[in-house]
Amino acid sequence: MSTKAEQARPAVLLNPLEGDPTDADSHIGGPMLWPIDEPWPWCDGTAHDPKSGREPFVGAVQLYRRDFPELPFPDGTDLLQVFLCTLHHDVPHAYGPDVRLVWRDSAEVVELIEEEPQPSVQEELYVPTVNVLEPVRFSERATKVSGGTKIGGWTAWWGSEPVEFACPECGAAQRQTLSLATHEPSGDDVEWEFGDEGNLNVLTCPEDVRHPVSVHVG
Ligand SMILES: [Zn+2]
Ligand SMILES: [Zn+2]
Repeated sequence: MSTKAEQARPAVLLNPLEGDPTDADSHIGGPMLWPIDEPWPWCDGTAHDPKSGREPFVGAVQLYRRDFPELPFPDGTDLLQVFLCTLHHDVPHAYGPDVRLVWRDSAEVVELIEEEPQPSVQEELYVPTVNVLEPVRFSERATKVSGGTKIGGWTAWWGSEPVEFACPECGAAQRQTLSLATHEPSGDDVEWEFGDEGNLNVLTCPEDVRHPVSVHVG
């Protein structure tokens, strides 16, 4: 076993718990802090099956820096917002919802969007229940990877072979940043499902977290 595989990385289990969060809270599946004067993210639908076209993304996760300082927030931002297009996207290594990350300065949001756009059609598999978060911090070794929803740590590859992802923009080796899980260690599942009861992993560029991300579902 290589030294690298033994290496510990900091990780945080989000540990979702059914609740009633606001846009001012870190959460899964709750309302997003979105300004009225900024276009909502839409999926162009090119990777959907032919029955569905352009659809709005759905607010899936938001994480404030005060709760999750471990995230690689770009200067001047304090909120990570994760959006899913809740339809099947047929792309290599990532058959599942499409993912969009938005890094935001929450102090710049003055007036909120009145209503979040709703997709005309969704796969129920990818729609989260509404949860507050009770984070659990730990140190994760590549040999004992948690399958829960988390930030940081290592990628849970399950049955698939490990894949190296390079940043499409600058070529740097991307790093495991966020994992959304079908099953939580607590047993309080979010009731979404990725792959064969696996995880949806988001890998980001270590040089600039706003470079295009890679998604792995396994
Ligand atoms: Zn889509
Ligand atoms: Zn890059």
